[in-house]
Order: sequence, then structure tokens, then C-alpha cells
Amino acid sequence: MKRAKKTHCTVCPTWEIKQPDRCSNTLKNGLKTLYFCTHRCKERYLKTPEKFS
Ligand SMILES: [Zn+2]
Repeated sequence: MKRAKKTHCTVCPTWEIKQPDRCSNTLKNGLKTLYFCTHRCKERYLKTPEKFS
């Protein structure tokens, strides 16, 4: 099995998303998918995306 790159929450980069394929707090950004540990993180990102790019 191919070892996947670690996925971290876009808003809190120290938080590892253990199962990104099961993560429901995601956002499509062009070809990339952004992952968030919680819905709250996603909302924070949506308010100020430039802070987390
Ligand atoms: Zn987070």
C-alpha cells in the first residue's frame, strides 16, 4: 500500500487528520482538497482564507 502524505488541518497545522477520506470538513480549492479538524476551523478559513494560504 502506498504511504500517503500526512494531512493536517489547514487552520491548525499541528493537528493531523488521521483519516482524511473520512473527514467531512473539507473544501475543494481548485485541484487541492483542504481539510479541517472541525467545522469551526472551516468557518475560520472561509472568513479569512488569505491567512491560511
Ligand atoms: Zn483545525
